Amino acid sequence: MGTGILTIDLDALAANWRALDAASAATVETAATVKADGYGLGIGAVARTLARAGARRFFVAVAEEGAALREALGPGPQVHVYSGHMPGDTDMIADLQLIPMLNSIEQMTRHFEALPGHPFGVQLDSGMNRLGMEPAEWAAVRAVVMAQKPDLVMSHLACADEPDHEMNPRQLAAFREMTAGLDCPLSIAATGGVLLGPDYHFGMTRPGIGLYGGMPFEDARPVAHLSLPIIQIRPLDAGEPVGYGNSWHADAPARIATVSAGYADGITRHISNQAVLFAGDVPCPLVGRVSMDLLTIDVTHLPEVPSHLDLLGVHQTVDDIADIAGSIGYEVLTQLGRRYTRRYKGGMA
Ligand SMILES: *Cc1c(COP(=O)(O)O)cnc(C)c1O
Repeated sequence: MGTGILTIDLDALAANWRALDAASAATVETAATVKADGYGLGIGAVARTLARAGARRFFVAVAEEGAALREALGPGPQVHVYSGHMPGDTDMIADLQLIPMLNSIEQMTRHFEALPGHPFGVQLDSGMNRLGMEPAEWAAVRAVVMAQKPDLVMSHLACADEPDHEMNPRQLAAFREMTAGLDCPLSIAATGGVLLGPDYHFGMTRPGIGLYGGMPFEDARPVAHLSLPIIQIRPLDAGEPVGYGNSWHADAPARIATVSAGYADGITRHISNQAVLFAGDVPCPLVGRVSMDLLTIDVTHLPEVPSHLDLLGVHQTVDDIADIAGSIGYEVLTQLGRRYTRRYKGGMA
């Protein structure tokens, strides 16, 4: 088999959900954000595993993502859509029993006209200026909207991965002000907000990245393991170059392993000549440029070369790769390619 093997550890995923659930009081519901195909790991297996662990509410970015999710979950669990009710979404929202998080007066009008009585939630902007109603807009419609009994009123934190950032208490205060006296479930915390403590938990948290093993959840268990087969090994003389652009030269006799995976599989060229792959516990430098389908690895120091080298796993997380690439774990995960052989381990695939 010439493809890399992406192993998705569903037991680790469930353990991460349980750990984040345990970080808030028993009265706080812990939902799960599974947008972008479960952060790239496969929404079906991810959602079934989380439902089994105890999650009863799920969040996706757009209504289109609700179809695969509803298929995986069946009719019971609630499925919320962060982007709200867009033109053309009405049939999906009705047929798949989705709960749009309404972001504007325009969306509210659309929803109440197209699907009167259908469950909905409201997204408020507490300062991030991305999605949700502004305080003044909300003040104008709040009484009318609350009479329709929203399922949830939520907002989102811009800087929750930085616990000491002054934006966190500022957004918390804005959200409290906008929701004072409301009789309905409230939520402002994603993964970062869960870790900020009880002030941020309200009635529900909706973590994403921490479930999948990413920062800022430092105690997360890694969920994605990526093992790449060696196609060929060659000896190099001192001075010989490797890869496109001759960007690396052996300064002494060397042994280079060529492994199967490249930027077409989501391994960014920004880690060229910088990352390592692991042979068991032993790091082996990625030398030369990342090409479309191949990586070249210096294995000169290995007494025995294994059949595969690991890019992601216990020794190197998505955040380690992201740090090298100037990115974030979220992006490394969601870029993981479709060409890998995907194996689900444990849990409930
Ligand atoms: C993506 C997203 C989340 C989940 O965030 P994480 O940082 O991955 O935990 C929660 N709420 C909203 C509005 C989001 O867009």
